[in-house]
Amino acid sequence: MKYNRILLKLSGESLMGSQGYGIDPERLNSYASQIQRVADKGVQIGIVIGGGNIFRGLSGAARGFDRVKGDQMGMMATVINSLALSSAFEAIGQPAKVFTAIPMFPVGYPYSKWEAIKAMKEGSIAIMSCGTGSPYFTTDTGSALRAIEIEADVMLKGTRVDGVYTADPEKDPEAKKFDKITYDEVIARNLKVMDITATALCKENDMPIYVFNMDKEGNLEKMIEGENVGTLVSNN
Ligand code: UDP
Repeated sequence: MKYNRILLKLSGESLMGSQGYGIDPERLNSYASQIQRVADKGVQIGIVIGGGNIFRGLSGAARGFDRVKGDQMGMMATVINSLALSSAFEAIGQPAKVFTAIPMFPVGYPYSKWEAIKAMKEGSIAIMSCGTGSPYFTTDTGSALRAIEIEADVMLKGTRVDGVYTADPEKDPEAKKFDKITYDEVIARNLKVMDITATALCKENDMPIYVFNMDKEGNLEKMIEGENVGTLVSNN
């Protein structure tokens, strides 16, 4: 196995599946079983989920909400998604534990690095919600932070495209995919891998990011086994 401990970032939007809003149970169950197959191989798994399928602070602010309250609403949305995913895991017999960066026990357990690592070592999937727990951040930054904290070997960013391209492949048919790229190049070329805060945090702490298409069944397993199914972003 190429990696022993991973942090998987799932966007809230990916949970919508073919719906325009909310959570598609089919997509949720497909993710849960793909992730379980990787857990069955003995890989320790931490997960951070976004909340964009329910609420984003920035769009709230655009509609007149206080930004900090809007961001708190966005963080609550990540809790909703995390609970949904943990429920899908439990339904297939996969132990999972939801942590919240903002204390709200018994909805989830208060997040701490050591409790998350303990849960993973005991065979549970650690789902870390609320992003960083602070407004003005994104769940990309939250997942970079958690990946570094839990000492993951890699941060996996599951997206709708199969890696990092020279341009948006959904808009530009000439776009070419990178197998490997540096953080500096991602920032210099303004490639939309993750926001700059998240990318800079990974760069400073040498946390490799692997971008791949999570919606192609089996990709997650292939990636874990070392197959080249996406793009690796690192310092060299
Ligand atoms: N959010 C926040 N702090 C964090 C992470 C998230 O305030 O550390 C809020 C922010 O309002 C964001 C929303 O939660 O818009 C949902 O997260 P995000 O947009 O990253 O979700 P995704 O795009 O991955 O679905």
